[in-house]
Amino acid sequence: MIVDRQGRRFRNLRVSLTAACNYACTYCVPDGKRLVAAQDELSGQALARGVAYLVEAAGIERLRITGGEPLISPRLEAFLDSLAGLGLQDVSLTTNGQLLARKLPLLRAAGIRRLNVSLDTLDAGAFRQIARGGDLASVLDGMAQARAAGMSIKVNMVPMRGQNLDQVLPLLEYCLAQGYELRFIELMRMGHLARDGNAFLQQFVSLEQLLVLIGQAYGYQQASAALDATALRYQIPGRGHFGVIANESVPFCRTCSRLRLSSTGWLHGCLSSGNRHFIGDLLDKPRHQALPALQRLLVKALADKQDMAFSGGVTVMKVIGG
Ligand code: SAM
Repeated sequence: MIVDRQGRRFRNLRVSLTAACNYACTYCVPDGKRLVAAQDELSGQALARGVAYLVEAAGIERLRITGGEPLISPRLEAFLDSLAGLGLQDVSLTTNGQLLARKLPLLRAAGIRRLNVSLDTLDAGAFRQIARGGDLASVLDGMAQARAAGMSIKVNMVPMRGQNLDQVLPLLEYCLAQGYELRFIELMRMGHLARDGNAFLQQFVSLEQLLVLIGQAYGYQQASAALDATALRYQIPGRGHFGVIANESVPFCRTCSRLRLSSTGWLHGCLSSGNRHFIGDLLDKPRHQALPALQRLLVKALADKQDMAFSGGVTVMKVIGG
């Protein structure tokens, strides 16, 4: 097992199935142009072999499938099929929910029981302005169908001043009523927001500001969370929970156990680091050749982690899936 000075190791892997997306969210894509898949994206089987090798070489326990938008990827089915038997403790998926109703049977058949659905507003007009693709009704319907099929759902919202701050309380009330756990993600300095500090600061809403806003309408108390959890969790007695992923306000770098694999075969050990390590060429090799080389790259990827605080990076989230 590869462990660093702070006792960190990779346990959680996020695989981006494609960089393509049917949205063009303002915080992810500055020019509003929809993203297309890169020419050199790996096959579903090759990505799953990457997962298998990383389970062995790094001790990966949990997998999250992301993107781009994973549900638009033609590799989804082959990838899911190839995951069986890898001994993962948990497989979950992050999606914008647009195609959720249609893909639900496939996800259920693959044993996926936990979904994160990104939704920044319940206002159809604001939805169009932020996501610049898709439609709100399909997302709400997809989540309802997934819940009816027994899936547990977390909703990811990025609160932004000037865009959807007025939606914090309506979305929280909606999620509490529907039995979804809302998780607020503090805006991160990624991609164009790493280069344009003003745009970031104008929109950024901190944990403290968020809690003041929520406290005006609900009584809440902090709840316990796993040691390497990224979200702070709060309980609203008698109603449910919400969480805050406070990258800026309460950085969790010291306990970060995440590793990311892009759809083109690059490993990223840290969102704040520009470093990445290519493993695409190892995936055709037999196990005994691939694993030692992979271990050398994993040592480098682990060394890329920040010691203390998340500082953002120019990597665009669509490439590695947040
Ligand atoms: N398409 C999928 C989705 O919409 O969930 C997966 C990819 S998306 C990049 C993953 C998550 O990253 C979403 O919840 C999105 O809101 C979040 N995200 C992207 N850019 C971000 C930023 N600059 N700050 C905070 N969250 C961001």
